[in-house]
Amino acid sequence: MKLVSIELQGFKSFAKKTKIHFTDGITAIVGPNGSGKSNIIEAIRWVMGETSAKSMRSEKMTDVIFSGTDQRKAVNIAQVTLTLDNSDRFLPEDSDQLDISRRLKKDGQSDYYINNRQVRLKEIHNLFIDSGIGKESFSIIGQGQVDQILNSKPEDRRAIIEEAAGVLKYKNRKKEAEIK
Ligand code: ATP
Ligand code: MG
Repeated sequence: MKLVSIELQGFKSFAKKTKIHFTDGITAIVGPNGSGKSNIIEAIRWVMGETSAKSMRSEKMTDVIFSGTDQRKAVNIAQVTLTLDNSDRFLPEDSDQLDISRRLKKDGQSDYYINNRQVRLKEIHNLFIDSGIGKESFSIIGQGQVDQILNSKPEDRRAIIEEAAGVLKYKNRKKEAEIK
């Protein structure tokens, strides 16, 4: 499984449609303070189903929609598409390439798509669960998160280790079965 590209439009500082291609090996994103580096990482987490506005450094989720600058008018929709190479079937979807999209309108409604098929948020979560690349996964380490992991309560740290071990989906299914 590989990250192929990410396309952002109307998401945070990315007013214009912007596509970033990831090549093999390590990609470093560099730029001055405030140029949008963290916004790219947040867009990756957002398209993978992040529902916490706070973790997007926003008060409400619609704050991620480009709000305009002196030079450019605000927009009404934020849209991000993440393209993944899934030819090794690492993710449980029978497709060599996966286009995962999320679109958010001013009214607060988010729509999710897998290869242009509209899906529920749960399907997005199920796609990434136990893969290690989900919205709260250990493979995205934000600023200050290392401290957070070291200082977290044992049960929270256990959840991180369980995701790494791939048992989280079974625990979630058990919880769902118990509710029913
Ligand atoms: P640093 O090096 O300081 O970490 P960075 O490159 O990570 O900076 P970001 O935090 O990604 O920068 O980008 C911050 C910029 O994004 C700010 O200029 C902020 O005004 C802009 N921004 C955030 N949300 C929006 C929005 N909804 N509309 C327009 N601009 C936005
Ligand atoms: Mg930053």
